[in-house]
Amino acid sequence: MNRRDFLLTPPAMALGMAGAPLAAMAGPAILTRESRILPREGKGPRVVICGGGWGGMTAARYLRQLIPNAEVILLERNPTFWSGPMSNKWLIDVVSTDFVHHDAQHPANVYGYTRLQTEVIGFERERRLVRTAHGLIDYDFLILSGGIRNAYDAWFGNDQKAIDHTRNHYPSAYIPNAEMLALKQKVKNFKGGTLVMTLPPPPHRCPPSPYERACLIAWHIKKNKIPGKILILDPKPKVAPISMGYQTAFRELYPDIITHIPNAGVQEVDPFNKRIKTLAGEFKFDDAILMPPHQAAEMVWQAGLIGKTPDGKPTGWADMDPRFFHARSDDRVYFVGDLMGHISSQFGHYPKSAHVANYIGRIVARNIAERVAGKEVIARLPDNLCYMMVNADPQEAISVKFEYEVDAASGNVHQTQIDEDVRTNDLVKEDFVWIKDKFSDFLAL
Ligand SMILES: Cc1cc2nc3c(=O)[nH]c(=O)nc-3n(C[C@H](O)[C@H](O)[C@H](O)COP(=O)(O)OP(=O)(O)OC[C@H]3O[C@@H](n4cnc5c(N)ncnc54)[C@H](O)[C@@H]3O)c2cc1C
Repeated sequence: MNRRDFLLTPPAMALGMAGAPLAAMAGPAILTRESRILPREGKGPRVVICGGGWGGMTAARYLRQLIPNAEVILLERNPTFWSGPMSNKWLIDVVSTDFVHHDAQHPANVYGYTRLQTEVIGFERERRLVRTAHGLIDYDFLILSGGIRNAYDAWFGNDQKAIDHTRNHYPSAYIPNAEMLALKQKVKNFKGGTLVMTLPPPPHRCPPSPYERACLIAWHIKKNKIPGKILILDPKPKVAPISMGYQTAFRELYPDIITHIPNAGVQEVDPFNKRIKTLAGEFKFDDAILMPPHQAAEMVWQAGLIGKTPDGKPTGWADMDPRFFHARSDDRVYFVGDLMGHISSQFGHYPKSAHVANYIGRIVARNIAERVAGKEVIARLPDNLCYMMVNADPQEAISVKFEYEVDAASGNVHQTQIDEDVRTNDLVKEDFVWIKDKFSDFLAL
């Protein structure tokens, strides 16, 4: 053990508080990052899940159900669970903090898996080991479900000062962390002027939700008579998905507040002088929500499992089998949720949504259960459904549904998109039924 290892070793008490049984960690008197922790219990297979959000927690629940003798270990950096879905509504108090923020140890207790609060920092795949801030954990199967990373380097290279300034002053709030609270504070404190929102280029997390965020902040601006405007800088040629529904909402509900600028791919960001250069021109802002490009979470890069383009550049997303969700180069490693890679030449990626993460969490648990039982693994397809609130009084939403089937001729997965463009209160009610159903599924609420 060197000094660095010693300093990085968290106190044993913190391990216990994080939810993993302390007895299971008995071993060397002083734990270091090189120590093996969580010795095996029983003879069943061990599945380690990295990332305990929508996808990871769902996989954990179904693995315990489908493989009763499996040891399932979920590794998550956050102490509690924050939901992306409903967080735009929480920004303007349509729902309370208790609605989006939940105890993450409760489902682990109910479903019988081990949750360890720790940082995943690397892998030794040849030895089937996960490297964490608390030590090494071995696995038979590994699931990576760490969501996304903000690729600020695409804007700033390695200029850490610009990255930190942007993150601190213009948080994207698309990852479950303290940025959500910072954004809520920003909305509450907004006194007027131009609020710029940059949208990431596709594929990115929850494509319709930045427009929902714009609508709900616009609603707040309108209600409180704040002399403010929202400028949406969109790299796409038009609003998508639910194009008509959103454009109608912008025009009918927020004509003097929201301006949507298409083909506005970001070229340069100067967060200190509040200027953005895009393909559609240069813009100044008073305040901003700056969303950089999204990529697969750091853990996929650390595992060496990022895909490559034909000319050898990283795709930014997991290199995986599109029907069975395991890594192309390592079938002991599965991917669940937003970090997943390319699926089909027709539509590219599955929507990076909570609905899909939850669905694939179940599918991957089933795939692993079939392999463990020595059965043929059946390829399964998800669907997707997202409700987006565009008006908070009266409460009205629009929605988009995606269905998938395999094209018999090409073997390609085929997508059908169904937009519900007419805003209604019934869709708001359906949204609340949807989220309650999902929360009961993996949060045991
Ligand atoms: C504003 C907003 C609105 C949205 N609205 C909807 C909606 O209406 N419907 C819908 O279906 N989807 C919606 N989404 C998208 C949804 O939140 C994501 O698609 C979903 O969370 C993806 O699940 P995941 O498991 O891949 O990632 P996450 O839920 O983000 O989980 C990943 C977890 O991994 C953890 N993690 C990452 N790296 C490490 C590490 N190194 N060590 C330990 N832990 C790590 C993270 O802390 C996180 O908890 C919305 C998202 C946002 C931001």
